[in-house]
Formats: sequence, structure tokens, C-alpha cells
Amino acid sequence: MRYNGLIDKYREYLPVSDSTEIITLCEGNTPLIKADNLARKLELDCEIYLKYEGSNPTGSFKDRGMTMAVTKAKEEGSHAIICASTGNTSAAAAAYGAKAGLKTYVLIPDGYIALGKLSQAMMYGARVIAINGNFDNALDAVREISKNYPITLVNSVNPYRIEGQKTGAFEIVEALGDAPDYHFIPVGNAGNITAYWKGYKEFFNLGKSKQLPKMMGIQAEGSAAIVKGHKIDAPQTIATAIRIGNPASWKQAEAARDESKGTIDMVSDEKIIEAYNLLASTEGVLAEPASCAPVAGLIKLKDTIKPKSKIVCILTGNGLKDPDCAIKYAKSPVEKTTSDIKDIVKLMGL
Ligand SMILES: *Cc1c(COP(=O)(O)O)cnc(C)c1O
Repeated sequence: MRYNGLIDKYREYLPVSDSTEIITLCEGNTPLIKADNLARKLELDCEIYLKYEGSNPTGSFKDRGMTMAVTKAKEEGSHAIICASTGNTSAAAAAYGAKAGLKTYVLIPDGYIALGKLSQAMMYGARVIAINGNFDNALDAVREISKNYPITLVNSVNPYRIEGQKTGAFEIVEALGDAPDYHFIPVGNAGNITAYWKGYKEFFNLGKSKQLPKMMGIQAEGSAAIVKGHKIDAPQTIATAIRIGNPASWKQAEAARDESKGTIDMVSDEKIIEAYNLLASTEGVLAEPASCAPVAGLIKLKDTIKPKSKIVCILTGNGLKDPDCAIKYAKSPVEKTTSDIKDIVKLMGL
């Protein structure tokens, strides 16, 4: 049977009824790639799995939440949606807004959006409004606007976003036959760590898994509000998707950490770029920089990992989202020569 998206697949665990019109682009059902080369490289006697959320229709996990948020907005009679975004939320909102026939407004921090993400929102026909401020300022603005005008807010403070995103945990439990021992995930606004923890707990309570994972949230050093215990007014990091100084789901992220006996830690941009190159060159998996933070986190914390563990890293977004970054940090440059075969062969060292 044709796969028809995560609401269709997991409808019994989601707030929909038989009469709900589902807005879907067939999101979810993403690959769980076994990363044996990486485990060997890190000298970890463990099974590492990469949940490749970059294979969602708009190239990030945001599609999981957006199918649910837009389906409910449409069901509730809304005509317009709005979000603040570091990029991927705007791409997802614009795509699902287009599919649903809703007017879509996205607020982005001017100059800090990866090119792929910006081009998506523009192509899907959203009104893209770049503000002279950061993500946190944009989120404050859209919260205020959605309070005062008939426009549905589709950031992860919308509870339906969390409902859709929790299905990532369901897929992992079904693929592995149980929850993993460790769940590494980047933390920006902290909606996704909240959603995965909810999903794991739900399947555990239904008897579908025998254990719960330790939740290992990873922030970027320049925007590590939760690790440092205070808001960051001017967050900085190359990983623009987690360049957030005041996470909306801060409390929920701490609850996930504490209930699961996990941790929230941070990694430098340098380590993020190292992980970015390592993933691509050892596993053939290109993920955007924010998505490499959990891998950098695993490398940082590897001596604390119990041998024989199962580890899942959530690779939240596709590396093609940010081609500038790839070209800037790729290890091997493009080599140039003439069209003469002799020159080409010589350059190849044959
Ligand atoms: C949104 C996003 C994150 C951060 O997720 P939160 O739910 O805000 O913590 C991480 N990586 C990518 C690629 C994202 O788009």
C-alpha cells in the first residue's frame, strides 16, 4: 500500500478524526542509517544509527510537525498561518501552507538564513518578511501578531507541532524493536527534544518498548542558553538552525533531560564542522551544520557511553540546505585542468 504520510500511519496516536482532511506531502518514514564506519572511527563498541530527517519532503524534520499543525489549522477554519523561523520552519510552513491553500507569512532574521531554505519559502509562495533582529525577536513578534489577528501560529509552541514530531520516536522504536539507549539531538527552540521524549514515553507506556533512552540534547556553544542557565541576547553559531538564545520549550527540555537521566551539553562551531565533514566523508551522509551538533556531542561524550549501547543521532536537516557552508568547509577543493586526457590523468596521479 502507498505510504501516505505520518498522520495516516499513526492516526490512532494523533488528535485527528475520520473526517479530518489531512494535509500531507508524505513526510516521515525517514531512513535510520547504521553508521558502522563512524563507530569504528570513534572506536566506540556500539551501534550508531543516523535518523536522516533530511529526506523529508522539504528537507527537514519540521515537516513532521507542520503536517499536523496545518491539518489542524485548516480543520479549525483558519485562512492564514504565520511563523518565525531560522529557515526550515519557514520552508515547511510555506510548503504545507501552499498544499492547504492557506496564506502563509514567515518572519526571518535578515542575513542569517541558509540559501536553500530561503529559496524554498520564496518558491512555495509565502510572504517572506526579513526583520532587522534575531530569531527570538521574530518569535516574540509572531506570538503577538497571532494573538491579535486571525492568523494561526505554527511555531513549535503550537502543541500540534509536537504531536506530529513525536512520530519520529515511534519510527525509531519500530525500526529497532525497542527504544535506543541514547538519543542525541540538537537543541534550538527545544521543541524537538520535547516531542521525541513525549513519543518515547507514549510508546513505553503502551508496552511497545521495554526501555526509555537517555535524552542527550546538544546546543551550540554560542547559543547554549540551557547549558549556561541564562538567556543569550546575541546568540552566535554557524549552525543557524539552532541560533536561538531563549528556547521556547526550555522547561520541557530540562524535564526530558532530568526524567531520562540524560544531559544537555554544548559543542563549539569548530567541532560541529569536524562532525559535518566526518559524517559526509565516512558515511556518505550530508546533513546541515545544526544536524551535526549531536554527532559532535557524541564525540565529546563518547567516554561516558556504555559499551554495546544503541545510539541514535537525529540528523534534523539536509546538507543541501546550506550549500555555502558545504563549499566553504569541504576538505577537498575543486581541482582544475584542461580537457586533454593526458592532463586529466596526470592530475589524477595515474
Ligand atoms: C529547527 C531545527 C533544529 C532545532 O529544533 P528545535 O525543535 O528548535 O530544538 C535543529 N536542526 C534543524 C536542521 C532545524 O531545522
